Amino acid sequence: MTRRKLIAGNWKMNGSLAALAELDGIAAAAAAAPGIDVAVAVPATLIAPAHARAPNLAIGAEDVHQDDDGAHTGCVSAGMVREAGAAFTIVGHSERRSDQHETSHDVYLKAATAHRHGLKVILCVGETQQERDAGRAAHIVRAQTEESLPDDAHGDWLTVAYEPCWAIGTGRTPTMDEIAAIHAIIRAKLQQMIGDGASDMRILYGGSANPANAAEILALENVDGALVGGASLTADKFVPIIQAAKALSA
Ligand code: PEP
Repeated sequence: MTRRKLIAGNWKMNGSLAALAELDGIAAAAAAAPGIDVAVAVPATLIAPAHARAPNLAIGAEDVHQDDDGAHTGCVSAGMVREAGAAFTIVGHSERRSDQHETSHDVYLKAATAHRHGLKVILCVGETQQERDAGRAAHIVRAQTEESLPDDAHGDWLTVAYEPCWAIGTGRTPTMDEIAAIHAIIRAKLQQMIGDGASDMRILYGGSANPANAAEILALENVDGALVGGASLTADKFVPIIQAAKALSA
């Protein structure tokens, strides 16, 4: 089964109207790579102007609330970001799991709500440094996958991202063997949970992916793309990652 590679950016709490100029080069690179998918998640305030500036690029949210609406000051709903032009949302990013104390059950509800509102979903899982040191990485990733994935998850709308917390924004990456091992574990878990549909579901790697390491990471078995934070903020760093995926998909 051939899965289209997906290169997704995550701007986190970075960016501005002026920074949206970076999308011009990113959109051009995406248009020149029709064999892969490219997406950029931006802060909620930038979704509408980003979508207006790059209408052919998949613009997404970095999180949505699990409820459709209600008394949740400061939060945004799936319907709101969809209306603003988002095509997808990230859920379960480790910074949400740690900073906002989100549980896998919260992530499960968010993914289901996002899907109900017509958003595609990138669902993140990954162990902390402490968990890896204790030899629990595989266990954590299996448990987060099992507890976060909605019952009707399908590769048409849901992508899993393996993001070891200790690799995010640190410049440190796991070895290629470590990445391949965890991706195989996630694929096996998906197989157990959703059967044959597991072969249609993409699994991205995230954590200090950059132009220098992208080609090697993206060539690994069961690595169907990358979720990229820091290196997605500028076209000069993000475009080479898109091009590495394009070269592998030619
Ligand atoms: C992320 O935010 O999902 C991420 C992987 O960040 P970075 O690429 O900066 O490590």
